[in-house]
Formats: sequence, C-alpha cells, structure tokens
Amino acid sequence: MSKPVQIKSPEGKSRCPICDKPTAEDFRPFCSKRCADVDLHRWLNSSYVIQTEEEADDSMASGSSEQ
Ligand SMILES: [Zn+2]
Repeated sequence: MSKPVQIKSPEGKSRCPICDKPTAEDFRPFCSKRCADVDLHRWLNSSYVIQTEEEADDSMASGSSEQ
C-alpha cells in the first residue's frame, strides 16, 4: 500500500515544460506532440504573451451546482 513515489531521473531526463510530465524521446523536450504544439503556438503568438486574468472564476460566481 505504501508505495514511495520517487521520480528518479538517472539519465538526467527533463520534464515537459508544458505539463511537467516526463518527456518522451520522440517529442523532446516535451511529453507529447500536443505539448510541443502548445509551446510552438505560444511562441508564434508573439512569444509568450502573458495572459491577463480577465476571465473571472465563473465557477465561484455561479457556485458548484454541477454536482
Ligand atoms: Zn506535456
């Protein structure tokens, strides 16, 4: 039951900068093509534009009535 969750990186493997998952060799330095595309689009969209938090948390405003 008590399984220690140790993420070792003996080979110095980096993590996906997008979702922080272990990188896949086919998509380094990302974990998947999706994340690679995400990063690519970020650069294309005028290099990492910081998104302002214009969108308020609707979940808090309308309450949690989805359950
Ligand atoms: Zn990823």
